[in-house]
Amino acid sequence: MDRREAMLRELNLYPLWKRRGQPAPIEAVVPNATSRLGGGEADTQQSAMGIATLNPSYLSSPSDGGQEIANLDWPQLKEVVRDCTACKLRAGCTQTVFGVGDEKADWLFVGEGPGADEDAQGEPFVGQAGKLLDSMLAAIKLKRGTNVYIANIVKCRPPDNRTPAADEIAQCLPYLERQIELIQPKLIVALGKTAATALLGKDATIGSLRGTLHDYHGIPLIVTYHPAYLLRSPTEKAKAWQDLCFATDTMQKL
Ligand code: SF4
Repeated sequence: MDRREAMLRELNLYPLWKRRGQPAPIEAVVPNATSRLGGGEADTQQSAMGIATLNPSYLSSPSDGGQEIANLDWPQLKEVVRDCTACKLRAGCTQTVFGVGDEKADWLFVGEGPGADEDAQGEPFVGQAGKLLDSMLAAIKLKRGTNVYIANIVKCRPPDNRTPAADEIAQCLPYLERQIELIQPKLIVALGKTAATALLGKDATIGSLRGTLHDYHGIPLIVTYHPAYLLRSPTEKAKAWQDLCFATDTMQKL
């Protein structure tokens, strides 16, 4: 059994699923406009966060001493995030979790927020969900840190791993936006509803967002399930595999 087959077996995806056909056309959206952000992962779950306005006032937020986040370089951005206390999440976490990987990656994977393991180690996706994400990456011949960058919508662990609140997302999102500007990825994969709705600026179910090529400021964006959700709902792994195949097909055409 080769390594890729082993990964696919771990994903409950062996024998291989057939790849999708042509990528769907890019859906025109207006990212980060007034948005309705939803909590929870399954389509049946109701929105827990309500309507959020992503406030552009972050550009002079107290967390960066008045310096515009949009102008920060990598070292400055890392320093500002490390010292950030701009929302209440910082009081309950061990450290901020900035992101990890190739800072010029073609692939950007975005999750929701740090969990307990990530909070302890200061790196995104290092627990069981991280192990599954690594398997998902390996299944499409990618590897953490090699042409791949991994980040979250919020940099601090929400208490009890709850979904980040709309105001917390609005406060933290500019850091990710700046990371994306610096990375300039070719493709973004949003892992879960929180990441998808925050980046796309609209509330929708995962089911309605999957299988469509969205647009984040000119960068194609694909939505799939969060690995933590896949651990709870392993029967959905086949859909995640479809999404990953869609992503690789799309990347090949970029
Ligand atoms: Fe700052 Fe983001 Fe942490 Fe809130 S979650 S304190 S905005 S780094």
